[in-house]
Amino acid sequence: MIIHIDKNLEQKRVEELAVKHEAVYYKSAEKYVLITSSKMKSIPDELKSVAAEHFFLDSDIQLASRSYLKETRKIKIGNHYIGGDQKNTIIIAGPCAIESEKQIRESAALLKELDIIALRAGAYKPRTSPYTFQGLGKAGLELLDKIGDEYNLQIVTEVRDASQVDDVILHADIIQIGAKSMYDHGILRKCAKVRKPVILKRGFGASLQEFVQCAEFMLSGGNEQVILCERGIRTFETKTRFTLDLCGVAYLKEYTNLPIIVDPSHAIGWSYGVADLARAGMAMGVDGLLIEVHPDPKIAKSDASQQLNHDQFRALFKTLKPIAEAVGKHIV
Ligand code: PEP
Ligand code: MN
Repeated sequence: MIIHIDKNLEQKRVEELAVKHEAVYYKSAEKYVLITSSKMKSIPDELKSVAAEHFFLDSDIQLASRSYLKETRKIKIGNHYIGGDQKNTIIIAGPCAIESEKQIRESAALLKELDIIALRAGAYKPRTSPYTFQGLGKAGLELLDKIGDEYNLQIVTEVRDASQVDDVILHADIIQIGAKSMYDHGILRKCAKVRKPVILKRGFGASLQEFVQCAEFMLSGGNEQVILCERGIRTFETKTRFTLDLCGVAYLKEYTNLPIIVDPSHAIGWSYGVADLARAGMAMGVDGLLIEVHPDPKIAKSDASQQLNHDQFRALFKTLKPIAEAVGKHIV
């Protein structure tokens, strides 16, 4: 159950009520929001006496549910919004990892050429093997910040563990939580306290319920700017790296109030299918696409097989606009 409480109630009292009823709460600009387990099917008198409004939800997808908020949450990215009544789809692009100043400048220049506003590159890479490139770390983060300022781009980058969150928010505009970290409660709880948008990628073995409940950890801790990213799940199929769950995207659109981004690159793992999957995502009217593009994918230090080269990306980008228009979306 979600209970809205007047913001003028003493915080100590809200805290007492939360402890007594095994609830969590946060204070937004307008009110306290107190959330109990969805198993609580009636409102105790004590909570009723302070409740301005209350909502019963049928599972622990509560704050993220459309039954709670009908409209998709509106999130500001640079001078644009996704969600709300804005029919925007943001394109987030860039190399898997920042590798050098030359490489990231070339990426930034490509984005400017196409009027794309968000550059994504990893500085802390959560690799499958400890013997491969792990990212440039703090130096990469600082370089991304500098390039973001110079080219006026929103920077999206990943945190690999909770200790990196403070540093990443200093240098980036949007935090990414990777698929392998989806369940990392240290990261989730830290990102709950951040006042910047967070892109949460779906763990490749996570059900939709588990995925959205991870988002609930951040929402219930007070971060109202959570974006979901479908990036492929593991199935019996081995010809492609993962399987892009577009049924899952349809479910998330129907039942959750969070903006949704599709990442075709990590889903298929091979560049040949990225454009088709990106177009499929756009045709579903998602709020964003996250696409890996590298000046020279052959020599990329991570995810070389799936990154588009600049010409392939330009060709894909050209085809996205008519699809966006056909489904009533506008590319930003
Ligand atoms: C990435 O975005 O570069 C990445 C590692 O993706 P994922 O967390 O989806 O595997
Ligand atoms: Mn990658």
